[in-house]
Amino acid sequence: MIITCSQVEKSYKDIKALDQLNLSIEEGTIHGLLGPNGAGKSTLINIFASLIQHDAGTITIDGYSIPSEFQKIKGQMGFIPQDLAIYEDLTAYENIAFFASLYGLKGKEKKQKVLQALEFVGLTDRQKSMVKTFSGGMKRRLNIACGICHEPKLIFFDEPTVGIDPQSRNHILESIKKLNESGKTIIYTTHYMEEAETLCDQISIIDHGKILAEGTVDQLVKLVTDFEMLFVQVKNDESSILDGAGLSSIKGIETVTIEENGFSITHSGHDDLLENIITELKKENLKVVKVESRMPNLEDVFLTLTGRKLRD
Ligand code: ADP
Ligand code: MG
Repeated sequence: MIITCSQVEKSYKDIKALDQLNLSIEEGTIHGLLGPNGAGKSTLINIFASLIQHDAGTITIDGYSIPSEFQKIKGQMGFIPQDLAIYEDLTAYENIAFFASLYGLKGKEKKQKVLQALEFVGLTDRQKSMVKTFSGGMKRRLNIACGICHEPKLIFFDEPTVGIDPQSRNHILESIKKLNESGKTIIYTTHYMEEAETLCDQISIIDHGKILAEGTVDQLVKLVTDFEMLFVQVKNDESSILDGAGLSSIKGIETVTIEENGFSITHSGHDDLLENIITELKKENLKVVKVESRMPNLEDVFLTLTGRKLRD
């Protein structure tokens, strides 16, 4: 394990951001930390990067204790913060060169690594432009170049795709895959279930400063697949008039979630299920337009574990 956390605690005054958190991250993986806003993701990776310190518990990175032995592992770690850490009045090249210097790179080697990082994020032709002329997506890419120019073997990305255009987003996700293919371990925080599903080998679901569940997407989904899923679409956007109470009492139905134009249902399978659903909705004068059965996803896992949605 390249990272281990045992019983890690962190409070900000009376807010408990991390609560007896346990976590292991395997070398060479893309490991996702998936959780809603305020779950504690940034707090945790800011602690890994020794930007802040935890109150209790133990953390090791590549065998070194954090924060006491941070200096020994610092050069092997790259950190791409959620809030951009770049200088608007410097050029792209100068920004990366500044971070490269912080990591002790000099002379020819520094120049070569800066150019390599520019190339990697697709900003070579804009290297002499001031950052203040960049789009949001370009700034995000430059932020990444600054964090990886020293070629660390362990890289932390904190929600790197929030608020950017789809093209830059794809570029970033592809870059992360490439870094991983070249042997880097990636820790990736997100509140986007789809990103975690498509990008990550291993996912830890985090909420209220605790890891609720861990595993591959398949393993996590299996936690809730005692149930099957149905989506029932009703006519005229009238799903909101029903509280779902009638449906919940049907035999075999476990949970009912009201969606924009229908209901998501988890159920354990029952012979008369569909008939009973349709009858129940008819009582409320709701007409069923479509019924789809679907595979559970990470959103369902989160909903089952917490009773809440990942995004509100
Ligand atoms: P996430 O990155 O998952 O959105 P954070 O780690 O930023 O979550 O926050 C976890 C909790 O700690 C939240 O309740 C947040 O409001 C609180 N928090 C984070 N940073 C601070 C801070 N500097 N001062 C006070 N509270 C904070
Ligand atoms: Mg955060």
